[in-house]
Amino acid sequence: MTRHILSLSGGKDSAALAIYMRDRVTEMEYIFSDTRKELPETYEYLERIEDYLGKRVHRLNAELGFDHWYDVYGGMIPSNHRRWCTKMLKLKPFEDFVGEDPVINYVGLRADEKRAGYISHKPNITAVYPFQNDGLKLADIREILLDSGVGLPPYTKWGRTRSGCFFCFYQQKIEWVRLKEEHPDLFERAKAYERPYEGSGNIFTWSERESLTELEQPERMEAIKREYELRKARKRERREDLTLAQVFGNEVVDEDESGCLICSL
Ligand code: SF4
Repeated sequence: MTRHILSLSGGKDSAALAIYMRDRVTEMEYIFSDTRKELPETYEYLERIEDYLGKRVHRLNAELGFDHWYDVYGGMIPSNHRRWCTKMLKLKPFEDFVGEDPVINYVGLRADEKRAGYISHKPNITAVYPFQNDGLKLADIREILLDSGVGLPPYTKWGRTRSGCFFCFYQQKIEWVRLKEEHPDLFERAKAYERPYEGSGNIFTWSERESLTELEQPERMEAIKREYELRKARKRERREDLTLAQVFGNEVVDEDESGCLICSL
């Protein structure tokens, strides 16, 4: 029998898709690959989603979180070029959970996105994209979340743009600054991973070209905030040059789409 699986990342698009599909596919299995390094807000959001769905979201990786694989990889923190984390903490647990059963995998890519979704190479998994098929864009996703009462992910209140590990190397410099201000304890824990790699003695850093110790210096944090405000102002000016039809027709997607699709969809 074909199974129907929807993987939640803790992000808004997969949450909206779960809400959208609740009454359309009642036999849906909801999963969440828990790295055990998620933000506390993500765990809280998952509970909110479970309440709405009236179903438990199955947690994968209950035993083997990030630190297990960090040790297996010799204490080398992942990066865009060394993305063992996505492979071992997201893809593999998903494929293990699926096994050999025929599966339809529901993916929350929107109609206004150009990103490619995760297509498993396993022949028994077929990915489907309900939002793209039904032409749903960013404004529709917001509406689904707000109308349901589930709301946007709570970490967006303090300016974090994506779900995933609190130390994810995909976060922008400004998000590191916000993490430091909002969750200083998590920032310290992220910092503790920046130690000499046993294979070479090199120190790998989460953020490009600087360690978190350098980034957290008050003058550096102020400079990052200033740069961010400048970029935002330039973006606003560009938007003002656009027609209203482009803005309200959702041709403009006001968010950073870079990063790990599997972890932040
Ligand atoms: S959120 Fe970032 S650090 Fe965590 S598994 Fe995904 S890519 Fe890796």
